[in-house]
Amino acid sequence: MDCQQLVNKITSRIHDVYAKHLSYAGRLQIIMASVLKEIDKKCREFLWGAFEEKRKIALVAWDKICMPKKNGGINIKGCSKWNIASVGKLLWQVASKKDILWVKWVNGIYLKSEENIWEHIPPGDCSWYWKKLNSLKTQMVDWYQGDRYKLTPTGAYSVSRSYETMLGTMPRFGEADLVWSKIMIPRQRMIVWLACQNRLLTKERLTRLNIQVDDQTCCLCDAAVIETQSHLFADCQWISGIRNTLSTWLGIPILCQGVHDTIRWIKRRRWKQFQKEIVTTIWGALIYYTWQARNWKIFKEENVNKEFVTVQIQKEVRERLGMLNCSKRARRCQVLIQRLCN
Ligand SMILES: [Zn+2]
Repeated sequence: MDCQQLVNKITSRIHDVYAKHLSYAGRLQIIMASVLKEIDKKCREFLWGAFEEKRKIALVAWDKICMPKKNGGINIKGCSKWNIASVGKLLWQVASKKDILWVKWVNGIYLKSEENIWEHIPPGDCSWYWKKLNSLKTQMVDWYQGDRYKLTPTGAYSVSRSYETMLGTMPRFGEADLVWSKIMIPRQRMIVWLACQNRLLTKERLTRLNIQVDDQTCCLCDAAVIETQSHLFADCQWISGIRNTLSTWLGIPILCQGVHDTIRWIKRRRWKQFQKEIVTTIWGALIYYTWQARNWKIFKEENVNKEFVTVQIQKEVRERLGMLNCSKRARRCQVLIQRLCN
């Protein structure tokens, strides 16, 4: 399903059912309540590949997905919260008494001599918009100190800052710059990000989710151990052969540790940022292809050739570096790039 289909699906409901019989205010109410929720739901389903009757497990909670990348999310804007943050700009205009026509009008008609928007109770016969705006105040009051918007140093309203505040306290994900590096291929970034959250559906995780798994052992080696993330990406014999070859090619030994430890190790090296991103890209491709080999074995009963994967990773990395070679950052790592590209 491409994006246009998704948009069509969302908007068809608006066109078909409601359009003809409602006032503007009524239509807006529908957009604010059910459609926004529906859009969020459709986006969630789209992300995890669940369509029509086919349900899929959401690998990561939606609130987490909506967080900025630096906090471990993927920076998708949740429509319901983003909408409140956007509407917040109107309240800010009233609170900071902006010299604009509609604020003057609101002051003349509703607020009158009342100084404080926060204590204002909208009259029963006021417009729907004014009532709605006031009903959202409780969700916005924490953004203010008196009438001053406190989330930006200048006091100017920021939809993004309000939105991030609504998401709540967020632990930092210090390695986000490496996971989302432009050198890495986008589909590989997503798998590495999921692995960093420990959210890939390994047999061990499926069992923990009470989903029946007949054979819990790793299908890529003969070790007869439970398939966990740390086995697949650190200890499994399948990955270690390729890791050794790639380490020799790179001239840097890639750590034989779990996903978290490895990316933290890369982050803490005293290397140039671009070098860290190159090493992460190669290691990330290794994670991606190991996960793919595991899936092909389970779902297609196909064995993936390790030599092929090694050559494929080298080819992809050379192509990505070729695309970025003219950039200033790449020029600082010429020796490494030449080593990999020759
Ligand atoms: Zn194994």
